[in-house]
Amino acid sequence: MGAPEHSKQMGNYARLPVVFVRGEGWRLWDDEGLEYLDFLSGLAVLNVGHSHPKVVEAVQRQVAELSHVSNLLWTEPAEQLATELSRRSLEGCVFFCNSGAEANEAAIKLARAHSFRSGRQAKDIVVFEQAFHGRTMGALSATPQEGKQAPFAPLLAGFRVAEKTAASVDALVDDHVAAVIVEPIQGESGVHVIPDDVLEAARAACDRVGALLVFDEVQTGIGRTGSMFAYEQTPVKPDLMTLAKALGGGLPIGALVTAEPYGGVLQPGDHGSTFGGNAVTCAAALAVLAVIDEQGLIENARDNGAVLAAGLAEFGAVRGRGMMLAVEIEGDAPQLVRRALVEHRLILNATGPHTLRFLPPLTIGAEQIERCLSDLRTLGVS
Ligand SMILES: *Cc1c(COP(=O)(O)O)cnc(C)c1O
Repeated sequence: MGAPEHSKQMGNYARLPVVFVRGEGWRLWDDEGLEYLDFLSGLAVLNVGHSHPKVVEAVQRQVAELSHVSNLLWTEPAEQLATELSRRSLEGCVFFCNSGAEANEAAIKLARAHSFRSGRQAKDIVVFEQAFHGRTMGALSATPQEGKQAPFAPLLAGFRVAEKTAASVDALVDDHVAAVIVEPIQGESGVHVIPDDVLEAARAACDRVGALLVFDEVQTGIGRTGSMFAYEQTPVKPDLMTLAKALGGGLPIGALVTAEPYGGVLQPGDHGSTFGGNAVTCAAALAVLAVIDEQGLIENARDNGAVLAAGLAEFGAVRGRGMMLAVEIEGDAPQLVRRALVEHRLILNATGPHTLRFLPPLTIGAEQIERCLSDLRTLGVS
């Protein structure tokens, strides 16, 4: 069909001019049959690669058997997935939803309910400068970026913005604070690793007043940074963690995971989602977790992520961990992304005028890394 000139889809995305029809692993094909190398992974979603046969099989089997019964009833895939996520991380309970923003909404609600029911009456939420937590009104209120918030004011009350320093977060957390929300590595603003001492200060401040520490691992989770969850490579453990993006291997699912003491905070009637915990998306997620284990994708994200980072250093300063990387360049990053797509059939992303972001499937190896680096050289990136 080619990219439509007058699309009936709303103009809230600046799409690049290609229509894709098929994917496999790190490869995509457009509607003319041309093959592309994908270093975007559907925005950190296809960590196991496009159309992984085990994910496809799990989805096909589940949709043919039972797709949905509502949360008035139980299904096996949702219960199995909750058990898996709990066991692999914070060991409390899990709430399922359909996206990252919804997972953060649930975290905000749980934190406020926890404070309310423990008699603290603390309402406020501390977030960090340059954070991104999603586009719904609560998640947007937690996303202190003028350009993203201004048209939609008034936002939710009670958000405080910390600088990325230990002193700032320590000063902002007082008796009125219900939670601190942080991406351990900020994704959308350009792959900024939050320093360990800032995370430690957030943990200590939360413990001091009885607030909950929430890690938004929507982008960093599911092996992306070289551990199943990014918090494992930091000195702190959160009370709540939100997941989405790569969890469903391309199907929409989000999750809020709690530490043991907070699994019972939300009571019947407090919160819900019609599609949350849908049997098909949960079956997909179970397959994703199994593939990550079986194929050693966490080790690959760490080892080959280090190879990619070392290679990217020839173009500029590199930030990130595992296969969540960015390089700061002199040239026009959005223009380079467009040229990489059109001239080299390499799919990249720019998070700013001079920032290229790299989020390849965690399955890539030396050959794909070399191809990407050589394309960047040919494009004259510097
Ligand atoms: C993408 C993202 C979100 C929002 O997820 P959606 O599924 O688009 O709602 C929230 N937090 C972080 C860190 C993200 O990267």
